Amino acid sequence: MAGIIRTEGLRKVYAVGKERVVALNNISIEVEKGEFCCIVGQSGSGKSTLLNQLAGLEKPTRGKVIIGGHELSAMNENELARFRQAHLGFIFQSYNLLPTMTAAENVALPLMFKGVDKRTRIRRARQELKTMGLLGRAGHLPTEMSGGQQQRVGIARAFVTRPKIIFADEPTGNLDSATSKQVLHRMLTLSKEEGITFVMVTHEPSLAACADRIITILDGKVQSDVVQAEDVKQKARDALMADSKTDTPAEPVAARPAAAPA
Ligand code: ADP
Ligand code: MG
Repeated sequence: MAGIIRTEGLRKVYAVGKERVVALNNISIEVEKGEFCCIVGQSGSGKSTLLNQLAGLEKPTRGKVIIGGHELSAMNENELARFRQAHLGFIFQSYNLLPTMTAAENVALPLMFKGVDKRTRIRRARQELKTMGLLGRAGHLPTEMSGGQQQRVGIARAFVTRPKIIFADEPTGNLDSATSKQVLHRMLTLSKEEGITFVMVTHEPSLAACADRIITILDGKVQSDVVQAEDVKQKARDALMADSKTDTPAEPVAARPAAAPA
C-alpha cells in the first residue's frame, strides 16, 4: 500500500545572491496513514524545508510531493490553498494565535473558512479545548495563558477541522521539558484516537523516541529512515507519560481571572 505522503526525488535549491543553497537533495520518503513521524537532524540540515514541501507551502525545484494520491507539486496556488484547507493542519513553534481573539475564537477560526455557522463553530471549539484540558481558558486571550497552554490551543485549532494530516515544525521548541512532554502526549493520544497522520520536526531525542517512524536529515539528504519496533516506542511513550503526568493539572472549569494581567 502506498503511503499517504510520498516524495519522489525531491530537490529544493535556494538562490542567495550569487550562491545556490541545495536545501534538499533527492529526497524520496513515504509516510503511512496514521503514522506519527518525526523528522530530526542538525540545525540547517533541511528539516523545515522538507516539512514546508510536504505541506505544500513551497514549490520544489525538482521532484514530486504526493498526498493521498494527489500531486501537490502539480497544483496551482488556488488548488493548493483549497487542498490544505480541506485536508491539512499545522502547529507552529511560536503558536501563531491571533492576539485579539480568545482561545475559543482562535480554535473556531479554521471552521469559519469552512463555512460552519458561528454557534456550531464555538461549540466545536469549546469541545476541542475541553479535550485539551483547557475549557476553563476558553475566554482567555493568548497573553493570559502560559506557553504550554497557548500551544495546546494551537493543537486544538489544528485538530478542530479533523484534518487527515497534521504538520508541526518544532512545536515544543519554546516550551520547557515537562510541558513539551505533556504537549507531545496530547498529540500522540489524539493521533492514535483519531487516526490522524502526524509529521513533526523536533530537536528532542526523548520526544522523537516516541514516534512510529524517525527520519533523520543530514545536509539535505535522508541519512536514515527507521520504523521503530513496538516495544521500543512503547517504552519511550511510557516514560513520557510518567514524566508528563505530574505536570498535568486539572483545569478548573469555571475559573476566569477578574482582570487580565498586564
Ligand atoms: P532546519 O530546519 O533543519 O534547521 P532549514 O530547512 O531551515 O533547516 O534550512 C536548510 C538550508 O536551507 C539552510 O542552509 C538554510 O540556510 C537554507 N534556507 C532555508 N530557507 C531558505 C530561504 N528561504 N532562502 C535561502 N536559503 C534558505
Ligand atoms: Mg527549522
